[in-house]
Amino acid sequence: MATHKVSSSTYGMLVVLSGPSGVGKNTLVKKGLETIDRVTYSISATTRQPRNGEKDGIDYFFISKEDFKERIQRDEFLEWAEVYGNFYGTPRTYVESMLKKGIDVLLDIDTRGAASIRKKVSNAISVFVLPPTADELMNRLIGRGTDSKAVISNRMSHVIDEIKSIPYYDYVIVNADITEATEHLKAIITAERCKVERANLFGLFNELEQKFMNGGGLSVPLSSMKDEKKGPIIL
Ligand code: 5GP
Repeated sequence: MATHKVSSSTYGMLVVLSGPSGVGKNTLVKKGLETIDRVTYSISATTRQPRNGEKDGIDYFFISKEDFKERIQRDEFLEWAEVYGNFYGTPRTYVESMLKKGIDVLLDIDTRGAASIRKKVSNAISVFVLPPTADELMNRLIGRGTDSKAVISNRMSHVIDEIKSIPYYDYVIVNADITEATEHLKAIITAERCKVERANLFGLFNELEQKFMNGGGLSVPLSSMKDEKKGPIIL
């Protein structure tokens, strides 16, 4: 009877989602949480005012600029950035505790935040979400009716800059249809979980070695294939 099962890594993955405002990242995150197992979402802190219907502790932790700056001083953010004139940051403790439990963490962050994550967490995966057309993006931004004209035009003016960073991302999802976009997100996460470097093979290696090595004549013990680089994520 087998005593060791091959499992995916005991550490969770960081899954960064970026894309222009209005592209539907929020909905993609919500659908992703409903349909993908072992994932959670990191709620960011922000100094922006809540929109109609947004709730503190659910959509964001809405905090003052002073509070935000103190948290930067205390190194409480895994990354932070000023986006469209407000500050946004990813709380470090929650993300680290989830990753340690083997739960993948979705982050909805801007392109600069994504760049800092890439520097700090070499095996984070990043996904850029695109609209099917420019008109569709404009309709969604205007249609959600939550922002003033000045806010909308400020956000539109950043679209080209954001899109220029696509080459640094691992994947692109075109959000023409939310069900299909969610399936693509699930497929990306599933494929990443199956990567050899994320698989936890050493228990099986040890067992194979004990049972098969004498007769098999292997010159290199399988257990010596352990690569320290593929160990826990150091944030
Ligand atoms: P919104 O104000 O529309 O909710 O978000 C504006 C932008 O801020 C979006 O592009 C979103 O991805 C980004 N954002 C939200 N939370 C964070 C965060 O914690 N860090 C960074 N760097 N960007 C964030």
